[in-house]
Amino acid sequence: MRLLLVEDDDALAGALVEGLRGENFAIDRFATLREARAALSGTVFDAVVLDRGLPDGDGVELLRDLRARSADIPVLMLTARDALDDRLAGLDAGADDYILKPVALPELLARLRAVVRRARGRPQPVWHHGALALDPVARQVTWRGAAVDLTAREFNLLQLLLSHPGQVLSRSRIEESLYDWSSEVGSNTVEVYVHQLRRKIDPAVVRTLRGVGYAIGAAEALS
Ligand code: CA
Repeated sequence: MRLLLVEDDDALAGALVEGLRGENFAIDRFATLREARAALSGTVFDAVVLDRGLPDGDGVELLRDLRARSADIPVLMLTARDALDDRLAGLDAGADDYILKPVALPELLARLRAVVRRARGRPQPVWHHGALALDPVARQVTWRGAAVDLTAREFNLLQLLLSHPGQVLSRSRIEESLYDWSSEVGSNTVEVYVHQLRRKIDPAVVRTLRGVGYAIGAAEALS
């Protein structure tokens, strides 16, 4: 999952980036609305964590812009404690949820997972696809009832493909989701992860559409 964090407090942002990377999120952090807008125009993020008081404006402005062009990306607002008006303004502008400062990392993680799950229209906590089951919270995968041991990136790739059933994702779209801008992307790494998923689960788990990209295998082929 790839996140955009917009927060101008370096100490808070640093702690959140470190904590979220430790949970295998890819995360890009910016301190201004201008930079966040530029990042959102060129990159697909799975969710945004957005502060309100930023050097060049209010985070709510960015949220309103996103909703005005009907972008349905989940947005979690960071809000000062006890500021009821702040929380309501964020929710009125289309925030999916808010979290109070000081931020407790476990709470942030739980709320992030919940808003992303809701946004993907998958309210059930474990995703089922044929005989494949993926638990995004426990980060566990089972195939025909047996646990599959995946690396963090293999898991992230499988989760990404499963969250877009019936869609073909290009290699660059997959790389955007798996890596943030601080990561080195090897030339054939997506192919390597696809190969590993097929080896560890089933050859039909990922479909390759030559020259186009990858898709999760049809549920009927994975029974
Ligand atoms: Ca701030």
